Amino acid sequence: SGHTHQTDVVIVGAGPVGLFAVFECGMVRLRCHVIDVLDDAGGQCTALYPEKPIYDIPGFPRIEAAELVVRLKAQAAAFRPVYHLGEQVQGLEKLSGGFWKVTTSKGTVVQARAVIIAAGVGAFGPNRPPLPGIEAYEGKSVFYYVTQREAFRGKRVVIAGGGDTAVDWALSLAEIAGRVSVIHRRDKFRAAPESEAQLKALAKSGKLDLVVPYQLHGLEGAAGQLTAVTVATLDGDARRIEADALLPFFGLSMSLGPIADWQLELQHNQIAVDASTTATSKPGIFAIGDVVTYPGKLKLILTGFAEAAIAARSAYALIHPETPLHFEYSTTSGLPTA
Ligand code: FAD
Repeated sequence: SGHTHQTDVVIVGAGPVGLFAVFECGMVRLRCHVIDVLDDAGGQCTALYPEKPIYDIPGFPRIEAAELVVRLKAQAAAFRPVYHLGEQVQGLEKLSGGFWKVTTSKGTVVQARAVIIAAGVGAFGPNRPPLPGIEAYEGKSVFYYVTQREAFRGKRVVIAGGGDTAVDWALSLAEIAGRVSVIHRRDKFRAAPESEAQLKALAKSGKLDLVVPYQLHGLEGAAGQLTAVTVATLDGDARRIEADALLPFFGLSMSLGPIADWQLELQHNQIAVDASTTATSKPGIFAIGDVVTYPGKLKLILTGFAEAAIAARSAYALIHPETPLHFEYSTTSGLPTA
């Protein structure tokens, strides 16, 4: 990060559609940089349903979402894409000489002749509990992801939420933390039944505190370090739980994010494109996958794949107007060997 790069095409989003766009661009000899705000490629497949089988990928009667991503990465690898993961694309600016300049949250700059936006449902981010002053604690004693389990050894940890993430981390951290308290607004959890049963068994044996039905109410502490979390029922019955760390697991939110400010023509918060070219309202900016709309658009992976093929040819026509593309099948094109 923090460097300036030049390439043919910048792909915004490393979801299944962005990954396949690398392959399609490669087929027409265009080099790509791919940027994603998440630390792993795969978009919704990786972030939302890695273990679910998909049944409508042509040629695969059944494939798990995570496995599809592994294969898409392998297919793209032949063309040596450069990935910038964990960076949000923020700025888009037109330079002279037919280049676009894309900048990320980490200061990386990529200059390219074409931009393919494959931003899906947008940038994922944690749903924040509406607690006044929470920003001051984020990254110090309030965490939305666990990247280092050991950091919680011996600590008093409050986990909030009722889904799989909350329950799984409660079970895992109960083994090493000083104390784990789980706050949920109702007694029933939205987690795998076996995990919920395990959680309730731990609570019964006193190895974990189940604080239901309560909601987060306030934070106590100083200089980013929590000392306690207050919780309350809907009737206003309040409790105070001493804590070193709070892990709110309220799922991921999605928003178009900075792309909404790029002055592209939108329809219902999606990018309007010409389906025959995937062109947006700005020359040189193409968009594909779940982020786009046009009459008859299907929000499916296979539709996004077809759009990737069209976008690559559109980008080629823009970058090499003097050399019309001689159409080739993948079987005859002589793929580079990775
Ligand atoms: P996404 O997968 O959403 O990826 C977009 C990527 O762009 C994300 O990684 C995001 O982090 C990144 N991004 C966005 N904005 C920025 C930014 N500003 N900077 C950097 N990165 C950014 N489809 C099927 O065809 N078959 C199925 O069976 C199927 N089952 C599904 C089951 C579930 C539970 C869900 C939720 C979806 C399912 N889908 C299925 C839909 C399918 O997952 C989507 O159509 C597909 O993921 C769209 O791919 P995409 O690459 O366009 O977008």
